[in-house]
Amino acid sequence: MDTTTEQSQDLWGQFLHFIEERSSSIEYNNWFASIRLVRETAEEVTLEVSNIFVREYLLTNYKQDLITFLPTRSNGEPAIIFLIAEPESKGTEQPLIIQPPKEQPVEQTFKLNSHYTFDNFIEGPSNQFVKSAAVGVAMRPGRSYNPLFIHGGVGLGKTHLLHAIGHWIHDHHKKLRVQCITTEGFINDLVDNLRNKTMDRMKKFYRSLDVLLVDDIQFLQNRLNFEEEFCNTFESLINQNKQIIITSDKPPSQLKLSERMVARMEWGLVAHVGIPDLETRVAILQYKAEQRGLRIPHKVAFFIAEQIFNNVRQLEGALNRLSAYARLMGKEVTEEIVQESLGELIDAKPSGRVCVENILKSVATIFDVRISDLRGSSRTKEVAFPRQVAMYLAKELINDSLMKLASAFGGKTHSTLLHAWKKISDQLEKDETLKRQIQMARRNLEK
Ligand code: ADP
Ligand code: MG
Repeated sequence: MDTTTEQSQDLWGQFLHFIEERSSSIEYNNWFASIRLVRETAEEVTLEVSNIFVREYLLTNYKQDLITFLPTRSNGEPAIIFLIAEPESKGTEQPLIIQPPKEQPVEQTFKLNSHYTFDNFIEGPSNQFVKSAAVGVAMRPGRSYNPLFIHGGVGLGKTHLLHAIGHWIHDHHKKLRVQCITTEGFINDLVDNLRNKTMDRMKKFYRSLDVLLVDDIQFLQNRLNFEEEFCNTFESLINQNKQIIITSDKPPSQLKLSERMVARMEWGLVAHVGIPDLETRVAILQYKAEQRGLRIPHKVAFFIAEQIFNNVRQLEGALNRLSAYARLMGKEVTEEIVQESLGELIDAKPSGRVCVENILKSVATIFDVRISDLRGSSRTKEVAFPRQVAMYLAKELINDSLMKLASAFGGKTHSTLLHAWKKISDQLEKDETLKRQIQMARRNLEK
């Protein structure tokens, strides 16, 4: 790949986007919004930060993500030059340090999304098991599976189920103290309380809960200090038979967490949410359309669900667009209207051109593995390496968003894809066999 394309990749922008989606707006505005990108090349990124704390914060908390997105040095460190901004002329001396501590950070209960209830959750073969586990736990908190660990790809309803458990318990077990947190929220709480020397209060608060709902535990990876405190909280609750429910994008064994933490999370029930099959996608579409007061003929719902198959969030996005369009034009929903409004979403299937499907086929043949394994999540070397090669090829040969490409690999994240691409690019420089294998795949695909 030539450097010009690499330079125009906007790596910093991608990193910011990734962070923005995953952090609270307070955290984002405090730490990220003020960082100025001075220069970006394929080798190095230069950032201007308002003070040294911002740099420390970034490197302490986001090193792994920085490494994933940005160029790295030969020692594996992110290749970033930090410039400290000149202080503003005078007067407004506002070092952009941490916001003043909120009065009682730990007491604020995470708001549950009122739409995320069991009633609004459409069942199908891909999620029946996990839903009944969730219902079981909600009905008898602390007395069935503990912890309940829910994992699966993005946009498949993990947060929805987590909040549904929260609502149910809130409505049916009124005396129980429930707290729903994102892993980021927990970490931010910890940081605040450490800074204010109020750790005792925080510990007391978390350990007095009856039910703790934790969203996106994968963000605890590579945060050693926080992991330990989380693990202590976890053990203290479990030992008192208090219910814990955790969501994650990977099963416990694939998380980069301590053995102790992984073992704890496997104590109870580990349940997977899969990608809904066609019928379920149709049912979800029709249900959501009805809620929006939109009538979609069955045949048209089928047509949409056939084309949009990665996750439910995408399906919702399509529906929103379609509904706005139909309303604006004052038209009934027909296949034609779908084509007009969803255009690139649904004819993304490259006819004859290179597509992920063909890449998987070709890589599977060359490395003698199964396509389903490439799409799956096994980390054994025999599968993980060809998978990274396939991801590399997808990024090289297909002009589509990383997000879309990644999800075509069975719902991986775009940072996984980027990581794979980087690893293979580096290895290509010194590995002749790999070079030949990739040439072979390319020839196969481009003919
Ligand atoms: P995740 O946390 O797994 O990334 P979410 O729980 O945020 O996904 O779900 C994404 C969107 O899809 C939400 O709006 C959610 O309500 C919806 N959704 C996911 N699965 C279902 C389902 N089985 N039935 C109805 N809505 C669903
Ligand atoms: Mg979620």
